[in-house]
Amino acid sequence: MSTTTNGHSSVNGNGELRQRKPEAKPSVTDEGRKVDERLDKHETYEFGGPWGVTAMMVGFPILMYYLWICLWFYDGQLVFPTSFDDVQPFLTRMWAHVRDDAYPSAYAFKVYTGLIALQLTLAFVIPGYQQEGLPVPSLGYKTLMYNCNAIGCLYATLIISAALHYFHIFRLTDIIDNYGHLMSVAMIYGFAVSFGTYYFAVWRGEAIRMSGNFAYDVFMGAALNPRLGSVDLKMWAEVRIPWVIVFYLAVSGACKQYEEYGYVTPNMAFMVLATWLYLNACAKGEECIPQTWDMFHEKWGFMVIFWNFAGVPFTYVYSVVYMASHDPSKYRFSTPTYIALYATLLTAYYIFDTSMSQKSRFKMQTQGTFKFRKTFPQLPWGTIENPTFIQTAHGNRLLTSGWWTYARKPNYTADWVQSTTWGLVVGAASPIPYFYSVFFITVLVHRCGRDFERCAIKYGKDWERYCEVVKYRFIPGIY
Ligand code: NDP
Repeated sequence: MSTTTNGHSSVNGNGELRQRKPEAKPSVTDEGRKVDERLDKHETYEFGGPWGVTAMMVGFPILMYYLWICLWFYDGQLVFPTSFDDVQPFLTRMWAHVRDDAYPSAYAFKVYTGLIALQLTLAFVIPGYQQEGLPVPSLGYKTLMYNCNAIGCLYATLIISAALHYFHIFRLTDIIDNYGHLMSVAMIYGFAVSFGTYYFAVWRGEAIRMSGNFAYDVFMGAALNPRLGSVDLKMWAEVRIPWVIVFYLAVSGACKQYEEYGYVTPNMAFMVLATWLYLNACAKGEECIPQTWDMFHEKWGFMVIFWNFAGVPFTYVYSVVYMASHDPSKYRFSTPTYIALYATLLTAYYIFDTSMSQKSRFKMQTQGTFKFRKTFPQLPWGTIENPTFIQTAHGNRLLTSGWWTYARKPNYTADWVQSTTWGLVVGAASPIPYFYSVFFITVLVHRCGRDFERCAIKYGKDWERYCEVVKYRFIPGIY
């Protein structure tokens, strides 16, 4: 694709080169409307259909208990029955750990419910930046407004938690000390909210893209944009629950180390920094979330809800749990290794942050809703001044500038590298902290396949042209 002198160029559905102003509003064409209508109907089962999703709904909690037991009680090593005769005693031992150390205690209910109540209250009362979402086909291309106040809520949460800890009202070390109990409560919330919102959406007549199979529809969800007053529940839950807990687990681990040894290891400090960067990225760039596919396409079902309420918070930071319960000598590195680890994290974070904002802001520029928001930190190259793009016959545009020149999912690659550093931080001490990295690459490859399938239907020949212009999925020259 050639570019014009000012860097603006586009290729329309017929392959003609066009010059366009990025701020010009494209409208969805008649052809685009027909495709959108098709994409808003259930056509095929994903995730292995009803049996596949049922297996995941049963299997995820079991896997989470198993990994936690190995980490907490078996020195971070994966344990198995040693013989056929050992299967029964092995299962009995496993169950005893769940029953005795992970029962949903009243205290854990109080803590978890307290967090939900605090985050909901803050979401309602703290003023936010108003961002217009993308036109929603199922609402006749109406746009929804998003009250982006996650950053204010985050700073308020920091102040409140520091005060609670300082005045011994709620010690932050309690989070990691009650890991098993909190995880069980989080799972109960995950199931209750999934089923509750499913029935509510069906009752309100807000269900879309339904298959008619109960298990599958609970897993995929019924409503696309569930709201409680000014709060968009899907966006609220994506930022305010999982990443807040993940960050506080790291802080809790750091407090525990400090109380025990009088210092915090560079490894634990790394996890505090890594989880902070992720949480802060979601909060300071919240206005970029309405343009993501989780917001405009995925419904609010078990897959998203359970993972937000329980999966992310209680499987992504196993390294913190390991470090909080093991002697620092087990995961001590040389100075160059620490430098390499921190440098990898910061580089991956930079690409993740700027690639996400480049694409989201490009969509806002196209829609005419882009305003520069002053939150910290705003990194260089987060906005592309004169983006190149492919104008599709659907009406939408596909960005081909910035990080999006090199791959069709640069954000996934960078995000995955971050997840891998969250395991590398314990070196070879335990395999369990690598769960996030292994699980996440599986999710991203599968998600990428689902997304590209949808885009191929949505954009037809323009998608093929885009794939010719941007050849690689994750890593230029490799994949
Ligand atoms: P995606 O890349 O998944 O967004 C895909 C959508 O963006 C496509 O359906 C298409 O939608 C649009 N799109 C794709 N390519 C282009 C392009 N070149 N120009 C313009 N639009 C394009 O990312 P999201 O935006 O949904 O962001 C998700 C982020 O969240 C990722 O970084 C991911 O790593 C992270 N994530 C993290 C998880 C975790 O557990 N840590 C879990 C899941 C996601 P359309 O054209 O229809 O507008």
